[in-house]
Amino acid sequence: MSQQSADYDIVVIGGGINGAGIARDAALRGLRILLLEKNDFGSGTTAWSSRLIHGGLRYLEYAEIPLVFESLHERRRLRHLAAHLVTGLRLNIPIYEDSRRSKSVIRLGMIAYDLLSIGKKTPRHEMLSRDELLREEPGLRREGLLGGARYYDAQVTFAERLVVENVLSARDAGADVRNYSPVIGINVRKRAVHSLQFIDRESGEETEVSAPVIINAAGPWVDKVLTTVNREMPQFMGGTKGSHIVVGKFEGAPHAAFYIEAHEDGRPFFVIPWNRQYLIGTTDIRYDGDPAEVTASEDELDYLLNETNRVFPSAHLSKSDIHFAYAGVRPLPRRDKGPESAITRKHIIFRHKKDAKGLISIIGGKLTTYRNLAEQAVDAALKSSAIDAKDCETRTLPLPGAAQLDAAGEKLRSASGLTPACIERVLGIYGSRAVELVDTASEEFANVYLDTNRTVPAAEVAFVVRNELAVTLIDIMHRRMMVGLDADQGLSMADKIASIAAREAGWDKSARERQLKALHAYSDRFKA
Ligand SMILES: Cc1cc2nc3c(=O)[nH]c(=O)nc-3n(C[C@H](O)[C@H](O)[C@H](O)COP(=O)(O)OP(=O)(O)OC[C@H]3O[C@@H](n4cnc5c(N)ncnc54)[C@H](O)[C@@H]3O)c2cc1C
Repeated sequence: MSQQSADYDIVVIGGGINGAGIARDAALRGLRILLLEKNDFGSGTTAWSSRLIHGGLRYLEYAEIPLVFESLHERRRLRHLAAHLVTGLRLNIPIYEDSRRSKSVIRLGMIAYDLLSIGKKTPRHEMLSRDELLREEPGLRREGLLGGARYYDAQVTFAERLVVENVLSARDAGADVRNYSPVIGINVRKRAVHSLQFIDRESGEETEVSAPVIINAAGPWVDKVLTTVNREMPQFMGGTKGSHIVVGKFEGAPHAAFYIEAHEDGRPFFVIPWNRQYLIGTTDIRYDGDPAEVTASEDELDYLLNETNRVFPSAHLSKSDIHFAYAGVRPLPRRDKGPESAITRKHIIFRHKKDAKGLISIIGGKLTTYRNLAEQAVDAALKSSAIDAKDCETRTLPLPGAAQLDAAGEKLRSASGLTPACIERVLGIYGSRAVELVDTASEEFANVYLDTNRTVPAAEVAFVVRNELAVTLIDIMHRRMMVGLDADQGLSMADKIASIAAREAGWDKSARERQLKALHAYSDRFKA
C-alpha cells in the first residue's frame, strides 16, 4: 500500500494521555491522523493516577537515573506548556526513628534529585529539624520524629483535562478524533499492517480504514488490542493495581503534601492537598483482571486509612470520611518476579518489525513523560514508513488553554461579570479558553450559576457540549467540567446539568433519564 492510497498516515488506538499526546504531536507535524478511543478520552488509567508531574524521587532507589532526568525535564516543560493545569507542589518527608530510610539516605536522595534538577528553576530541598517541621505541620505524629526533608514537584489536578486539551489541539491541527469508537481488528498483510476495523459511533457500523502505521496506545489494554491482529502476536503487559482515597480536610491535616513511608510495608505513599480535598494513595499490587473492572478493595482502603491515621493521629479517619475511592492499572511490562515497586516505570516503544511492520505498541509511560513519549513514538512511526513530516512542535507549543493565559486572566477579571471564585475555577480548568466560555454565555445563561457558591456557570455545560467532544453526562461532569471530582461527585448539580445538556445535545426525556441513571451508577462505583 502506498502512503497516498491509504486513508490515514497513522491510526492511533487509545485516547488516554499517551494516545492523545501522540495524535497531537503527529497532527502538528502535518500527518493525516485518526485517533480512536473505545470510551471517552481520558477515561482509562490516566484518570486513576496520583496526578503528580514528578521526577520520581522513588526511582532513584532503583538507579533509574535517566528516567528521573527525563521526568524532571518534562516537568519543567509542562509547567509552561500546560501552565493552567500543572502547578507547583511542596512536599515534606517526615523521618522517624523507625523509618527504614535514614536521615542520611534521604539527604543523599535529595541531593541527587537537586543535581538532576539543575537548570529547572525549582527551589532546592531543605532538611528540617523536628521543631521546624512541627511548627509548620502541628498535626504530624510527634513520637519518634527526628525531622524531615522538604522538596518541590508539581501536580496536575485534572489529568483528564490534559488529555482533552491534547485531543482538541490534535483536532485543531487536522486530526480526525473519535471517542466511543472501539478498534475490533487489525489486519496484517505480508508482514506489514494494512488496515483496521472499528465500530463507528454515529452509525454503529463496523468501519475499515487503511494506514501504513498503527500505534497501539491502549495502556493496560495493549495486549488485548494485540489479540485482535489477524495473526499471533507477542504479549507484553503485567500491570499493577494502585488505589486512592479522597477525603475532606481532617483534624491535623497538613498544609503541604506529604510523602510518607508506610509503617506496614515500608512503601512510600502520598497525602496530597488536591481539589479542595486530600488525595491519599497509592497501593501497588500485581493485577491480571480486566482493567475496566478494577476497584479499590477493603484491604486497600484500610491500609490507606490506617497509615494516614498513624502519621496524623488526630485525623481519626474512617470509611465514612471517604468522599470517593478509585483504582487503576499501571500499564507496565510483565515481570513475574520481584517486588512490584521494582518494575521499571520507563516506557518502551515497541516496533513489531518482524511480524507486523508499521505496528507500534506503547508499553508503560508516566503522565509526566507523555509528551516526550509521544515525540519518540511519532519519530518511530516515521522510521517505520516513508512518510514525510515536519519537525516536532510540542516541545515549545503550549496547549490551547495555556496560550495567552495571563491576558485571559486579566480580561476575565476586568470584564466577564463572573464571580471571582468562578473566574479562578474556570481558569484552572479551561485556561485561556475560558474566554470562549464566557462568550458562550448568551442572554439565556447570563448570571446563571448551577451551585450555591456561584462557581459553576450554566454556560459551561453548553460550552463543553458544543466544543469539547463530550457525548454523555458522565463525560460532561467527570472529564470536562470536573465537578464529578467534587466531594459529592457533582450530584447536587446533576439534574440541572442534564437539562442544559439535553437541550444542547438533543436528548429527549427518556435519553435524559438514561444519562442520569448511568451517571448515578458510575458514581456508585467510587463509593467506599
Ligand atoms: C495508581 C496509579 C498512580 C499513578 N500515578 C502517576 C503519577 O502520579 N504521575 C505520573 O506521571 N504517572 C502516574 N501513573 C501512570 C500514568 O497514569 C499512566 O502510565 C498513564 O496514564 C497511561 O496512559 P495511557 O494513555 O497509556 O493509558 P490509558 O489512560 O489507560 O489510555 C488507554 C486508552 O485506550 C483505550 N482503549 C483500550 N482498548 C481500546 C480499543 N480496542 N479501541 C480503542 N481504544 C481502546 C482505553 O479506553 C483507554 O482510554 C499512575 C498510574 C496508576 C495506575
